[in-house]
Amino acid sequence: MAKLRHLVAGNWKMNGSRSMAAQLIADLKAHDLNAGGAGLAADLLVCPPFPYLIHASEFLMGSNIALGAQDCAPQESGAHTGDVAAVMLKDCGCSHVIVGHSERRTDHGESSAEIAAKAKAAQAAGLIAIVCVGETDRQRDAGETLKVVESQIVNSIPAGSTTANLVIAYEPVWAIGTGRTATAGDVEVVHAHIRKLLLAGVKGGEGVRILYGGSVKPSNAAELMAVPEVNGALVGGASLKAADFLGIAAACA
Ligand code: PEP
Repeated sequence: MAKLRHLVAGNWKMNGSRSMAAQLIADLKAHDLNAGGAGLAADLLVCPPFPYLIHASEFLMGSNIALGAQDCAPQESGAHTGDVAAVMLKDCGCSHVIVGHSERRTDHGESSAEIAAKAKAAQAAGLIAIVCVGETDRQRDAGETLKVVESQIVNSIPAGSTTANLVIAYEPVWAIGTGRTATAGDVEVVHAHIRKLLLAGVKGGEGVRILYGGSVKPSNAAELMAVPEVNGALVGGASLKAADFLGIAAACA
């Protein structure tokens, strides 16, 4: 199987403003080596907060940088105050949506079943669902990493997922926003296990990209992105600075 092209996705979380989005995207576009057809060995994706999606989609015009959201509702429409439907995200120019980020699993008590429903809604709307999985510190210390990740993978991926509508992000919870990263060896073991599960359970599972997330920055990206079965990065803090985000993408070569 040919090597999968890396995807470097920026999760802005609840950060920024309209002017910050304009500036950051302008800075990314100025250095978007993909635009010339040569350049980066990675596809780029930015995921701003909901209110800035429509602006971001305009700012991104003329670039090859894709747009994603950070969550979606499992329902198509209706009486769900405060929720945002996947079709609305598509309408705003999104191609991707993150579902099941650990901050949503924790802060909003989202179960894997709910995340599967969100991913299904996203795929039905024509979006690529980025399904996040990862163990906590306590689970890691208890030696439960593979068991936890396997359960999240099996229960968070909807039937009908394919290479074309699914990305996985492995994000050890203890590594998110902490400056701590898993070792390349640990990441290799978990990603190999996820690939095995994808091969068994998803049509075209060999082509589904598996991202690593958790304090990825330019200084550690080359080592992490070179790990077998690591097909890109989900980046939080470092995605808010164009130089850092592009530095990570450059490290994918
Ligand atoms: C994330 O939010 O998905 C993430 C990986 O954050 P950070 O890069 O800041 O650890």
